[in-house]
Amino acid sequence: MTNTDSSSSQNNKQLRVLISGASIAGPALALWLGRYGYDVTVVERAAELRTGGSAVDYRGRVHRTVLERMGVLDQLRAHATDMGEQVLVDAEGWELLRLPASFMSGELEVNRGDLARVLYEASLPHARYVFGDSVRSLAEHADGVTATFESGESQEFDLVVGADGMHSMTRRLVFGEEREFRRDSGYFVSTFSAPNDLGLRDSGVLWNVPGRMVGLSNTLGKDGAMLVFHSPGLAYDYRDQEQQQRLVREHFQGLGWQVPAVLDAMDRAEDFYFDSISQIVMDRWSSGRVVLLGDAAWAPAPGGMGNGLAVVGAYILAGELARHSGDHRAAFARYEELMRPYVKTCQKQGSNAGPFLAPPTAKKLKQRNRIYKLLCGRLLSGFFDRLTTKGAEAVELPDYGRELPEMQDGPHPLTVG
Ligand SMILES: Cc1cc2nc3c(=O)[nH]c(=O)nc-3n(C[C@H](O)[C@H](O)[C@H](O)COP(=O)(O)OP(=O)(O)OC[C@H]3O[C@@H](n4cnc5c(N)ncnc54)[C@H](O)[C@@H]3O)c2cc1C
Repeated sequence: MTNTDSSSSQNNKQLRVLISGASIAGPALALWLGRYGYDVTVVERAAELRTGGSAVDYRGRVHRTVLERMGVLDQLRAHATDMGEQVLVDAEGWELLRLPASFMSGELEVNRGDLARVLYEASLPHARYVFGDSVRSLAEHADGVTATFESGESQEFDLVVGADGMHSMTRRLVFGEEREFRRDSGYFVSTFSAPNDLGLRDSGVLWNVPGRMVGLSNTLGKDGAMLVFHSPGLAYDYRDQEQQQRLVREHFQGLGWQVPAVLDAMDRAEDFYFDSISQIVMDRWSSGRVVLLGDAAWAPAPGGMGNGLAVVGAYILAGELARHSGDHRAAFARYEELMRPYVKTCQKQGSNAGPFLAPPTAKKLKQRNRIYKLLCGRLLSGFFDRLTTKGAEAVELPDYGRELPEMQDGPHPLTVG
C-alpha cells in the first residue's frame, strides 16, 4: 500500500477505520468519520478515482439536509447538469413525447464523476487514500481486524467498512459469495462518452426497440450514451471490460438510428462502465467489526436512489458510531434499524428499473409509452415527482450535529468500544 495523502494524525486512542472503496459511499463516510476524529484509511482498487457513469440525482429534504451538513451542497449545485427535457423517440427516431426535466433528473442532478470528485476532495483533509490496492483477507481477533492487502502488506484496524460496491470483496470475505445476495433482473446497463449528431444541448433522447434502450444526452458540454438491454441468464465477468464491450456489441449489432455510431464510440471511450441491473439483499449488514455500506450492502438498481442511500447511510453510520462513542455493536445495530425501512422503500422503487427503461416486448413497450404519456399529462404531472420524493424522504434523520456539537470540528479522539 502506498499512501497518496496523509493528514490525519496517528494516535493509538483514535479508532482506526479501514474503508474499502472510494466511489460515493466510501468518501462520504471518510468525511464524517474524519470529522469525528477517527483515523481513516480508504483503499480503492482502481489506480485513480473513477469518474465514469451517467448523471445521478438527489431529491427531497433528506438528501438536501445531508449534503448541506456535509458541506458539499453548494459545490454540487455548481456542478448541476441543468438537464432539460428528454425526448422519447420511436425506432425510426421520430418524436413520441417529451419527458419533463424533473422526471428523470430530480431536484439536483450531477454527473456521477463530478459527485465522486467533490466527495473525494471534501474528505481528503480527513482521510488517507490508497489507490491501486485491495483487501485480500480480513482476520478479526479480540482487539481488532488484521487486513492483508494485495500488495502483501498487513495492517491493524479497529473497524472495517465495505463500501466496495455491488461486487464487494469485503462482503465476499466476511459474509459469503455474491450469488447468495444478488438478485438479477436480467437487464444490463452500460454508459460511456459518445458524441451525437443530434445537436443535443442540456437535453437527452431516449430510443427503444423491445428489450433495448439507447439514451443519448449532452450535459455541461459532455456527450454521453447509456445503453440498457434485456438478456436473462447472461453470464459476464465484472472485471473483464473486453468481454463486456463484446456483449454490448452483440446485443445492439444491426440496429438502426444512431446505434452504429454509438457502438463505434464505445470502442474509443475511456470511461466505459458496464454492470447488471441487480439488487443486493442481505438480512444483516454487519458481522463483528466489519460493516457494509452503500451498494455493497443494498444495491437498489437504477431508480432506487443508490447515491442518496449511500450518503444518507454514511451520515447515519458515522453518526451512530460517534453517538455510541465507538461501541460498534450498538452503533451497527442502530444503523441497521434506521436504514432498513429506507432501503426497503428505495429497493421497491428500483425493482422495476429494467422493464421500465427497456420493456422486453413490443406490447410492453407500447404500454410503457402510454404510461409515460399519462405521467407527463396535465392530470398526473407531478405525481411521479411526488412519489419518488416521498421515497427519498422515507427515513428518520437524526440531527447528530445538535447531539454532538463538540465533535463536528474534529479531530476528537475516540476510544475503542
Ligand atoms: C465508474 C462507475 C460508474 C458508475 N456508473 C453508474 C451508472 O451509470 N448508472 C448507475 O446506476 N450506477 C452507476 N454506478 C454505480 C453507482 O455509483 C452506485 O450505485 C452508487 O453510487 C452507490 O455507490 P457506492 O459507493 O456504494 O458503490 P460504487 O459506486 O459501486 O463504488 C464501489 C467502489 O469500490 C471500488 N472497489 C470495488 N472492489 C474493490 C476492492 N476489492 N477493493 C477496493 N475498492 C474496490 C470500486 O472501484 C468503486 O470505486 C457506477 C459506479 C462506478 C464505480
